[in-house]
Amino acid sequence: MTSAVVVGGGPNGLAAAALLARAGLHVTLLEAADEVGGGARSHEAILPGLVHDHCSAIHPMAVGSPALRALGLERHGLRWLLPDIDCVHPLDDGSAGVLLRSVPGTARMLGPDGNRYRALLTTPVRHWDTLARDVMGPLLRIPAHPLLLARFGLPTALPASFLARLFTTARARALWAGVAAHAFRPLSHPFTSAIGLGILTAGHTAGWAVAEGGSQSITRSMERVLRVQGGTVHTGVRVTDHRQLPPADVTLLDLDPGQVVDLYGDRLPARVRGAYRRFRRAPAVFKLDLAVEGGVPWTNEHARRSGTVHLGGPLAEVADAEQAVVAGRMPERPFVLVGQQYLADPSRSVGGVHPVYSYAHVPYGYDGDATEAILRQLERFAPGVRDRIVGRRATSPARFAAANPNFAGGDIITGARTTPELLLGPRPTIEPYSTGLRGVFLCSAATPPGPGAHGMCGAGAAAAALRHLGVRTDSLMRLSAPRA
Ligand SMILES: Cc1cc2nc3c(=O)[nH]c(=O)nc-3n(C[C@H](O)[C@H](O)[C@H](O)COP(=O)(O)OP(=O)(O)OC[C@H]3O[C@@H](n4cnc5c(N)ncnc54)[C@H](O)[C@@H]3O)c2cc1C
Repeated sequence: MTSAVVVGGGPNGLAAAALLARAGLHVTLLEAADEVGGGARSHEAILPGLVHDHCSAIHPMAVGSPALRALGLERHGLRWLLPDIDCVHPLDDGSAGVLLRSVPGTARMLGPDGNRYRALLTTPVRHWDTLARDVMGPLLRIPAHPLLLARFGLPTALPASFLARLFTTARARALWAGVAAHAFRPLSHPFTSAIGLGILTAGHTAGWAVAEGGSQSITRSMERVLRVQGGTVHTGVRVTDHRQLPPADVTLLDLDPGQVVDLYGDRLPARVRGAYRRFRRAPAVFKLDLAVEGGVPWTNEHARRSGTVHLGGPLAEVADAEQAVVAGRMPERPFVLVGQQYLADPSRSVGGVHPVYSYAHVPYGYDGDATEAILRQLERFAPGVRDRIVGRRATSPARFAAANPNFAGGDIITGARTTPELLLGPRPTIEPYSTGLRGVFLCSAATPPGPGAHGMCGAGAAAAALRHLGVRTDSLMRLSAPRA
């Protein structure tokens, strides 16, 4: 029987493993931690029963992901839940940019900017199911729908700060800046609109969903699919040398490129080794999980019903903060993302105590304590919140890196997404999943389409591995389940 070894059980390693097992391969997955899941796991470290997500929390790109849909995860325990409001970006005067599931609803909330918002997003949202197959894979290939992709792609090339000029109100500009900040890049750089537009388009199609019971439900359901298909999972196995690996026809690595160099050293072709060594990292995050009695007392009433709240004030302030962290400086007022997953999934709370998730963008490898900076941003838009906090847990960049080398320096997106990486992946090639070694493929978020718990990097690498084996890949992502 044809066999595969997968190193690393994050969402991409698991997606690759489950899809290969479904295609008939005998799959063995090796995971360094005591449990699989990587960046999609949950914990109860503050209070028993109070469920916090370790890393991935909000999943607009995962709900409609062709890979996750193909695996039929709903039949293995995954249930997506949606908050009333997807995202709110409050401002100091109490107003806010408000993102609703529907484009017309959001346009209404944006008042004078509504028509422009509608014009920007209506067509991509209408065609997202078709577009997703082009956008959620390597961009350097012949697209299946070139005209549609071109229409979506033109605005993505713009700097986010330039695209913001489409809007006239402070709240629309701030809302856009907060979404664009997910790129972890100075908003004045080309292609910084790409990630923001991708998130908005996917979000208007599927919602900013959370997984019932915590993000761990996503990866646990993937593990179940893998086991049902006869795959084997070994946890507590850190692979540091390729000679540790059992023999297999194909090997897939859910690792950052630096670790691939450590594993294979001089066996890697020199050009690949050089590119992986030069692999650039993104800024980091400092995370603060909170237990909050009665929830966060936001001044803006929409923020009280929103799954995600972006804190950073007006566009210029978000842009300055992002510029600073890329330059290695800790801003006084960092961009902070707050997750209120319990609003969609009340099972995560304990009585009136709610799990609130937050992180600040900080410089790569930041070794300070950003707790106060995060609390100040919260207090700015929710006066009195400190008095409601009954428990907290901070995770520094160093702690992220120690738990998972893919998050080296606290970089949670597995590599900077400057223009070359965004377009080409970790090295300039039309085969971004290939390591240059026969039968060895990279499948982590360092590859296209990039970060997120959507499993599409794993699916792309699984397809490359099957092509290497001479197996047809047209049924790899055949749908086996209806959408959530
Ligand atoms: C704080 C934070 C917030 C985030 N928020 C979101 C969000 O809201 N939505 C979203 O979609 N995404 C989010 N992400 C990003 C998302 O979690 C990642 O993009 C995703 O987990 C990447 O999946 P992966 O499989 O490529 O790698 P990972 O999830 O990093 O998994 C890699 C796995 O490999 C294992 N491993 C590493 N080295 C070895 C080794 N040498 N031997 C064996 N095993 C090894 C690791 O232990 C880990 O289990 C967030 C991430 C973080 C950290």
